[in-house]
Amino acid sequence: MKISLIAHDNKKQYIVQFALAYKHVLEKHELYATGTTGQKISEATGLTIHRFQSGPLGGDQEIGALIAKNEMDMVIFFRDPLTAQPHEPDVTALLRLCDVYSIPLATNMGTAEILIHGLERGDFSWRDIIHERTKGERNGSNNS
Ligand code: PGA
Repeated sequence: MKISLIAHDNKKQYIVQFALAYKHVLEKHELYATGTTGQKISEATGLTIHRFQSGPLGGDQEIGALIAKNEMDMVIFFRDPLTAQPHEPDVTALLRLCDVYSIPLATNMGTAEILIHGLERGDFSWRDIIHERTKGERNGSNNS
């Protein structure tokens, strides 16, 4: 599964703790992150993470682009609801795309724990069916 990890500045320490606690689960998946979040997580855990731009510089939109292509399976985004963000429109757009494509999304530690346990149990294998279908549609459209 492809999993995105994002955290606003006041929440970065918590996403690092989360990644340390669930490293044994996360290491079995393809990890993506916005720039600074990815750097902090990989420094603390040694996990391999594909890093996009920092959030305010377009990282959320890059993750959104993968969602729009149905190429992202889960988003864990520790938002800071108490601080205004310069890239609030990008944040809103990312959350919206998760809803458009029914992508499992956690915006706080409580829900992230549930998603990660579900991931460990294989609750998200339905995403493999979506990938197969998307691949089939792409091949079909290439042939037409
Ligand atoms: P960052 O971006 O990981 O580069 O800090 C996160 C965000 O603020 O969206």
